[in-house]
Amino acid sequence: SADESNGSHSTAEVCSSQEHTLPILTKIEDLRNKVLDLRKEQAALRNEVKGMSVDSFPGSEASNALQHMSVQHELLKKKYDDECELLKKKYLEECTERKRLYNEVIELKGNIRVFCRCRPLNSDEIANGSTSVVEFDPSHENELQICAGSSKKQFKFDYVFKPEDNQDAVFAQTMPIVTSVLDGYNVCIFAYGQTGTGKTFTMEGTPENRGVNYRTLEKLFSLSSERSSIMKYELSVSMLEVYNEKIRDLLIENSNQPAKKLEIKQSAEGTQEVPGLVEARVYGTDEVWELLKSGSRARSVGSTSANELSSRSHCLLRVTVVGDNLINGQRTRSHLWLVDLAGSERVGRIAVEGERLKESQFINKSLSALGDVISALASKTAHIPYRNSKLTHMLQSSLGGDCKAVMFVQISPSTTDLGETLCSLNFASRVRGVEHGPARKQ
Ligand code: ADP
Ligand code: MG
Repeated sequence: SADESNGSHSTAEVCSSQEHTLPILTKIEDLRNKVLDLRKEQAALRNEVKGMSVDSFPGSEASNALQHMSVQHELLKKKYDDECELLKKKYLEECTERKRLYNEVIELKGNIRVFCRCRPLNSDEIANGSTSVVEFDPSHENELQICAGSSKKQFKFDYVFKPEDNQDAVFAQTMPIVTSVLDGYNVCIFAYGQTGTGKTFTMEGTPENRGVNYRTLEKLFSLSSERSSIMKYELSVSMLEVYNEKIRDLLIENSNQPAKKLEIKQSAEGTQEVPGLVEARVYGTDEVWELLKSGSRARSVGSTSANELSSRSHCLLRVTVVGDNLINGQRTRSHLWLVDLAGSERVGRIAVEGERLKESQFINKSLSALGDVISALASKTAHIPYRNSKLTHMLQSSLGGDCKAVMFVQISPSTTDLGETLCSLNFASRVRGVEHGPARKQ
């Protein structure tokens, strides 16, 4: 709302200071090149001097001129080096300032964001005569209304994506948060909602409309090469699935290793680790796209229908970033989790039995555990109930503290999905801490 943005820096603003530091990096790069050019010139000069054997004629005009040039070069080089040092210092100062501003934003807005995304009506729904129950307010980008008969219910989020908003628009809002993993923050992104509302579309996307996962890695690669004179980054990727509270490695299918049963262990540093999980070092975007595709193929192995199983398991993509600061020698290691959650729909109580009932109980349990953890974080409760599900337990060290989280609540506009849509929106409002959250008074 207008109140929230008044007198404070918006996330986009603060994060675009990432872009502001770019000219400095470019300048440093320029100076480096100039110094390199000078070195080349000097080497050429030395060769020339040798060739002319002016060394044996000290005091000759040629020798004096060359010596003079050599001194000039040294002076220039020193000037460039000093300038470079100054720029580096300025860069470090800017980084500190950026962190300070970011923390200010976090103080004001909290480090948990809830975005709502409504997909378009699909052709079946249009053919069936279904209409949209969702209304958007053009003057408020963070509000929507659900019209059920004569009554209207309003919901507020950090941002609302309309059916016509494309993957670019979604990534533009998400980018500042996901890229902060390069600054050493742990970040979690979740897609929550009923099956068929676009969770996989948002996270994975399609080859023509790539989603948050691919776009994030693409951006991480380009930012790390832009910062290469200051920071050296190593990126690696893991992919896993949680189905019925069991963890399965989705990248192991690519190798010939036997499938291992994965468990969560606490490390000596107190962080949660999954020993044995494949961690693939990645160097470029083409390779990443192939890796994501194969992980997503592995997701449906062993099920009769790809959509069937994928809607009942959580799919987690973990990006590990190790950053070495070449200026101050500091090393950071942080995780970015991109999570496509199991479908949140309630299954019919009477019709369900056996395996399907067990599945749905596991899903309910883990989704409500996630909701509890996020709302506890949003309301800054002392005790955060991480241990109630594999999902939240695994994310423990990446969810809380100065970690950042975004929840995409995916909804269908169709009249036929009204019940589930209201459930999802209510869940999201609870997570956002509207009822009992701090510092969100309007
Ligand atoms: P979920 O993963 O939540 O079950 P999907 O991502 O599989 O849902 O989406 C269901 C269908 O709707 C897919 O065919 C997908 O391409 C389409 N879809 C979802 N969201 C959008 C959107 N915002 N724009 C266009 N098509 C969408
Ligand atoms: Mg899906």
